[in-house]
Amino acid sequence: MRITFVGADHEVTGSCHYIEACGKHMLVDYGMEQGRNLFENVDIPVEASRIDYVFLTHAHIDHSGMLPLLVRNGFSGKIYATEATTDLAGIMLRDSAHIQMFEAEWRNRKAKRSKDIELYTPVYEMADAVGAINSFVPVPYGQKTVVSEGIEVRFTDVGHLLGSSAVELWLTEEQVTKKIVFSGDLGNKDQPILKDPGYVREADYVLVESTYGDRLHSAEKIDYVSELAGILEKTFARGGNVVIPSFAVGRTQEILYFIREIKQKGLVKVNPGFKVFVDSPLAVDATEVFHKNGRECFDDEALDFINKGINPLDFPGLCLAITTDESREINDIEEPKVIISASGMCDAGRIRHHLKHNLWRPESTILFVGYQSVGTLGRALVDGAEKVRLFGEEIAVKADIAKLIGMSGHADKAGLLDWMRGFDKKPEKVFVVHGEDIITEVFAKTLHEELGYDTYAPFSGTIYDLLKGEFVVETKGIRIAKAEKRTGNAVFDRLLAAGQRLMSIIRKNEHLANKDLAKFADQIDALADKWG
Ligand SMILES: [Zn+2]
Ligand SMILES: [Zn+2]
Repeated sequence: MRITFVGADHEVTGSCHYIEACGKHMLVDYGMEQGRNLFENVDIPVEASRIDYVFLTHAHIDHSGMLPLLVRNGFSGKIYATEATTDLAGIMLRDSAHIQMFEAEWRNRKAKRSKDIELYTPVYEMADAVGAINSFVPVPYGQKTVVSEGIEVRFTDVGHLLGSSAVELWLTEEQVTKKIVFSGDLGNKDQPILKDPGYVREADYVLVESTYGDRLHSAEKIDYVSELAGILEKTFARGGNVVIPSFAVGRTQEILYFIREIKQKGLVKVNPGFKVFVDSPLAVDATEVFHKNGRECFDDEALDFINKGINPLDFPGLCLAITTDESREINDIEEPKVIISASGMCDAGRIRHHLKHNLWRPESTILFVGYQSVGTLGRALVDGAEKVRLFGEEIAVKADIAKLIGMSGHADKAGLLDWMRGFDKKPEKVFVVHGEDIITEVFAKTLHEELGYDTYAPFSGTIYDLLKGEFVVETKGIRIAKAEKRTGNAVFDRLLAAGQRLMSIIRKNEHLANKDLAKFADQIDALADKWG
């Protein structure tokens, strides 16, 4: 009975944990790595065809995005998830396959022009995504399900995304049962639409996320509805549009929820019948999935609407644009309006057209509702860029750039501690994952000091024996060598690359016997003496 830490160890994205127990091979999450990466992930220890079960905490791509690759590589097992996660993954994995295929097509077109003959194959294609989607076994929240002999699973709502859950896994070998709890991503209390995170009461081992394990969200309660109403009112009074770059799944539905209330209470006096365009096919599909799963997933307030026969994500004036033609037509409409479009960080997608039409207009507002990563167009705008390039054109930024602050899908340090306090008995060990390098260590220390838990922040490649309660392999991770700047001298660049390769070989040999390490060091020293 062993766990191998594969991904999101000392990192935030690419969640993946491998478990071997009861003669079965299992994964909890298999996510895509996104953004900047510090450490290399070890490979999943067995071939994809030998994986029997995957347990998926939630549909975000950094937890689910590699499932189609698993299918492409021969996986034919089952993927257990909540019903809402199954529905959301259904649209998000298809969307991800589209992106992979589009990227491959674009690269190959470029390669053709430069007469590069090596073809780029996409990470996976639509058929792989469909294969993954067909492998899902939806399970209701709170229902303990027998997966196979000695393996049981249950999902608890953790209020991070529709369908999001902590995975409770009971493993029994030779009459000994160990319970491992995977927090998944933990949400915040009192967020719109979703329930508060639910607690899990018992565990022998816990894997807990730590994205914001070192900081506190503002304690001030923000009234998003009146903030948003104020921004709409001001912009419409100037005769401008409010353009909202938003993540298609989650944030978009929260905005719709607020606007429904704004309209119902008549909080916007100028142009009260204003139209709201959701210009992202994924967002439109996701809104449908939210509506479908409302009864099981919504909090009391949102559920109340459903019980009264009201769809809390719908209101008069809501237009769901889908085709690219319909998308273009939005810009021909003169009257002030709201346009919600993806991507949330403005680095791709239809939002760029709407920015092109509105950034230069001093009467319009660009409203950011989520975190903007360094290097994205969204970040440049939030940081006050005076001009930006879009479709090869330079555009002056004259529109008002606004932010709806404080909206976050992740619990802060206090929220994480509160959730960890929910266990009746101290777990044997707590593994801190899903946080930036040093933050996992900081939060592991905090958990130990505040709650007295035995904590550890593993690196990718760490293996732990859950029955014996001891490490099989402990690693310090393999740092991805920073790419050296090219010098322009091809032969010298080759030498630099060789040097980097040497460093990565050194890192990988950490567990060699000491006499072998000494021999390796002697050889490098001899080489350095010769050239130095
Ligand atoms: Zn997430
Ligand atoms: Zn995550």
